[in-house]
Amino acid sequence: MRKLEKPKPPVFEQVEDERLHRKQRLAAAFRLFAKLGFNETPNGHITVRDPQLIDHFWINPQGLDFSEIRVSNLILVNHNGDVVQGNSPVNRDTFTIHSHILQARPDAIATVYTHSVYGKAWSSLGRLLDPLNQDACAFYEDHSVFDDYIGDLLDIAEIKRIPEILGHRKAVILRNHGMLTVGRSVDEASWWFINLERSSQAQLLAEAAGKPKIIGHETARLTQTQVGTPFNGWCCFQPLYQRMVREQPDLLD
Ligand SMILES: [Zn+2]
Repeated sequence: MRKLEKPKPPVFEQVEDERLHRKQRLAAAFRLFAKLGFNETPNGHITVRDPQLIDHFWINPQGLDFSEIRVSNLILVNHNGDVVQGNSPVNRDTFTIHSHILQARPDAIATVYTHSVYGKAWSSLGRLLDPLNQDACAFYEDHSVFDDYIGDLLDIAEIKRIPEILGHRKAVILRNHGMLTVGRSVDEASWWFINLERSSQAQLLAEAAGKPKIIGHETARLTQTQVGTPFNGWCCFQPLYQRMVREQPDLLD
């Protein structure tokens, strides 16, 4: 029987190739989020750590709609928010969230944060998501709630609390605000955000319809180990990436 290779994350010998790969995934994630309607305000960001300057990260330029982002207009910033590469400013207000999380989580390569609709709605409840279905189990015992809201995130002391609340988990729900995910790749972090948004939507629908049955602890924990792994997060993004490049090849420019 022919042995067919399962797709797996690529490994690059040249750091430039790794850098280009990360930027291509980043640009595609923005286009996908625009297609999914996740970027209402200019406050949303997706970041990826630079593979060489690991205390620097690539991020979307301020004021450019997600639908217009391409590899060539991504900007590289350091933790002071200085733009090291690129010709556009960074939204200093919200870049700090990503900066603090990437500093607190050396394992994280990418972070995602936007004010998506179902995320906003669910965040106003100040609750964790329940393991109501297989996809939502990806977050079982692996997400938290930042149970406070003091206005827009400008206060550094406030921002520093977010990595503490996130801990080692893959996601944090910011009460009355939005949601944030992290991952070992843009692919993984972006998929967790899409899944978190859809799982919020599904739980809001289920609770509007009646009293949903919650998956039991042991089964939810088992399912989390099956669908909540970095590899599964990476895998789920691959067909979405291929579709975005096929539909919008200019994102690679
Ligand atoms: Zn915000």
